[in-house]
Amino acid sequence: MSEEILINVTPQETRVALVENGVLQEVYIERSQKRGLVGNIYKGRVSRILPGMQAAFIDIGLERTGFLHTSDIVEMADDTIPDNQENLRESTIDRVLNEGQEILVQVIKDPLGTKGARLTTRLSLPSRYLVFIPDYPNIGISQRIEDEAERERLRNCILQYRSGIARLAVGNEDNVVLHSAMQESEILNKGGFIVRTAAESVSDEEIYRDIEFLHKLWDSTLDKGDKLAAPSIVYEDLPLTLRTMRDLIKTDIERVRMDSKETYQRVMEFARQFVPEFLGRIEYYTGEYPILDLYSVEDEIQRALDKKVQLKSGGYLIIDQTEAMTTIDINTGAFVGHRNLEETIYKTNLEAAQTIARQLRLRNLGGIIIIDFIDMQNPEHRRQVLRALEKHLDRDHSKIIISELTSLGLVQLTRKRTRESLEHILCETCPTCNGRGSLKSRETVCFEIFREVLREVRQFDAKKLLVVASQSIVDMLLDDESASVAELEAFIDKAITFQVEPLYTQEQYDIVLM
Ligand SMILES: [Zn+2]
Repeated sequence: MSEEILINVTPQETRVALVENGVLQEVYIERSQKRGLVGNIYKGRVSRILPGMQAAFIDIGLERTGFLHTSDIVEMADDTIPDNQENLRESTIDRVLNEGQEILVQVIKDPLGTKGARLTTRLSLPSRYLVFIPDYPNIGISQRIEDEAERERLRNCILQYRSGIARLAVGNEDNVVLHSAMQESEILNKGGFIVRTAAESVSDEEIYRDIEFLHKLWDSTLDKGDKLAAPSIVYEDLPLTLRTMRDLIKTDIERVRMDSKETYQRVMEFARQFVPEFLGRIEYYTGEYPILDLYSVEDEIQRALDKKVQLKSGGYLIIDQTEAMTTIDINTGAFVGHRNLEETIYKTNLEAAQTIARQLRLRNLGGIIIIDFIDMQNPEHRRQVLRALEKHLDRDHSKIIISELTSLGLVQLTRKRTRESLEHILCETCPTCNGRGSLKSRETVCFEIFREVLREVRQFDAKKLLVVASQSIVDMLLDDESASVAELEAFIDKAITFQVEPLYTQEQYDIVLM
C-alpha cells in the first residue's frame, strides 16, 4: 500500500489529504480563525497580586494580562487550606508568588471581551493517545475505555515503558528483575499520564512512540522556558500540519508534499526534532497545478458532500446524515434480467462494502451507521459481503464496532471519531429548507396561501388583499392557479393583487389587508 500526504496551505486554512494508491481517503481541515489559545504555555511574569481575590495577573505578552487563581496553582492546590481560614489563604498567595516573578503558565480558557485568558500552572501536553502531566504522579485511563482488561493493558504498557527507560539508564540488562520490582511511584517520578479514549486497541509500539514524543516535547518546552525572556510563548498546541506529522506519519507514508515554503521549513524543523527518519520524504511542492488537483483531490472533496455515490458496477449509494445516525442505502442501477439478478446484487454489495469503508473515512462519519445492503438469498454471499466490509474497514484509524448482518441485510456499526464530519466543517444548514433537503412544492405553497386568505378575511375587514411572495409562487398564482384565484376572489368578494418579493424563498409569503 503506497500512501502519500498532500498539504495545501493558505492564510485562511490548511487542508491535509491522505492519499492511498492514488485515491483520496481522508481530509483534515483547519481554519485559522477558529484556533484559540487554550493549551498554549507561556513564560509569563507576575504583574500584580490580588490577595483579596486569591489571584494574580500574569503578563503573557497578550493585549490583556492573564488571570491565575490560587486553585489553579499546583503547590497551593495541594496544600489543604480550610476555606474558613481566610487570613491564612491571604498570606499564601503572597508566599507562592511575587510581583515580577517569572512563571510557566498554560491557558485553560480563551480571553473573551475585556477578560484576559484564564491560566493554570498545572501544565499538560497532549499527544494523539496520551496527555502528559509533569506534576501528576499517576496513570489515569479515560473512563470511556470500559473494558477492564484493556485498561490494565494500557496501564502496564506505560509502566513497562518507564521501567525500560530506567533499565536503559542503568545500562545493564541484568537489572531487569531489580527494575520490574520498582515501585510505580518511582517509575512515574518523571510525570504522569492520562490515557485518552483514542488509545483503545492501539498497539504498545504506538503508545511508546507517543510517550517518546511527549518527553521530547516537554524537554523542548522546558528548554524554551529557560532560554526565552518573559513574556513569551514556549509551547503552542500544534497546528494541523505538525499534528499530521505527529499522528499520520507511519512507515508506509512514502511522501509528504506541501505547497508553502514557510510550512515546509516548519515541518522540516519539527521532523528533525521528532521524526528524523522521515526527513528525506518531506518535499516542497512547486508544481504547475494546485497541489490538491493531484489525484483529483479537490473534486473528490466536492463529491464527498453529495448524498449519492456512484458505483462502478452501475449501482449507487445514498448516504444520509441525520443528528441521530447515518444511513447508507445500496441500490442496483438499471434493470437486470432475472437470471443474473443474484449475481449482480452480490457484486454490487461487494463493491458497496469497499466504497462505504472509504466514504466513512473520507466524510469522517461518526456514531451509529446503518448500512442497508441489497437483500441476498445466498447465505455465503451474505458472509462474503460482511467479510469484505470488515476487511476494508480495517484501514480506518477510528475505532469501529460492527454488529452482524441481519437477515434483512442491515448492518449496524459504530465509528468513534474525535473530529467533526467533513460536511459539518464545510457546510451550514441550508437557510431555504432548514436542512430538510427539500422545499414545499409551489402547489403546496399556493394552497397554503388560499387557506390563509380565507382565514384573514374571516377575522379582519379589508377592501382588497395583497399577496407578497417569491417570483415562482406569484408566477404560478397568475398562471396555473389563475382560475382558483378567480374563484377565491368571487367567494370572498374582494380583489386579490400580487407582488414579487425577490428576497423571499419559495416557502415565504405575506398577506396584506388593504
Ligand atoms: Zn435546502
